[in-house]
Amino acid sequence: MDWKEEFRRGDDRPAAIGIMGGTFDPIHYGHLVTAENARHFFSLSRVIFVPAYRPPHKKQRRISPPEHRLEMVRLAIASNPHFTVSDMEISRRGPSYTIDTVLAMQQAYPAARLFFITGADAVLEILSWHRVTELLQNCTFIAATRPGYQLGQLRHNLSALPEVLLRRILTMEVPALAISSTDIRQRVREGRPVKYLLPEAVEDYIYRQALYQGD
Ligand code: ATP
Ligand code: MG
Repeated sequence: MDWKEEFRRGDDRPAAIGIMGGTFDPIHYGHLVTAENARHFFSLSRVIFVPAYRPPHKKQRRISPPEHRLEMVRLAIASNPHFTVSDMEISRRGPSYTIDTVLAMQQAYPAARLFFITGADAVLEILSWHRVTELLQNCTFIAATRPGYQLGQLRHNLSALPEVLLRRILTMEVPALAISSTDIRQRVREGRPVKYLLPEAVEDYIYRQALYQGD
């Protein structure tokens, strides 16, 4: 029985759930296109966006307060009935390790198969993630293409992983959007346009709250 069949067995609990982790400082169309395509391609019943409280890999730069990042995710996903947001990592405080989130999601949705959605840049670095073996044993990764990063490098980068774990990483092609939060922050700071890079409601929020002005 393949995993899709396994979860088509008639109970009404969520079958397959996507988790979209990120800093979302701010959320943009790259995130949304990736999440929506993962949802469709892997028949996920929903995608839960989980803004990190403190991303372990981003200690060097100042990150916007979590309340702002959470609110921007809320505004961005409002029109998609399959998208929700969790403040689990924000409430947990401390470094936001994905393994802790995945284990907590398992408790919350014991019947579901969990998928963790990332872009190519993130998955290529996965060997540096906290308790990576355990992480891959507890969820399946969906790695989306992202301009500037080569998913073809995956096997080379992750050659230290046993085959059985490598098979837990699935790849997915999404429409190429060369959009990053870093670029958006810089554009705002320099007074250049961010229109059409992210939802209008998020853009309005950024200007209203005067985010990214003086970083
Ligand atoms: P920053 O520039 O601050 O790192 P970012 O744009 O990379 O921001 P993150 O919050 O770091 O956004 O990313 C969250 C997740 O979304 C990561 O898995 C990342 O790979 C993925 N992602 C971000 N932008 C894109 C994009 N344009 N296409 C595909 N995946 C993306
Ligand atoms: Mg990033």
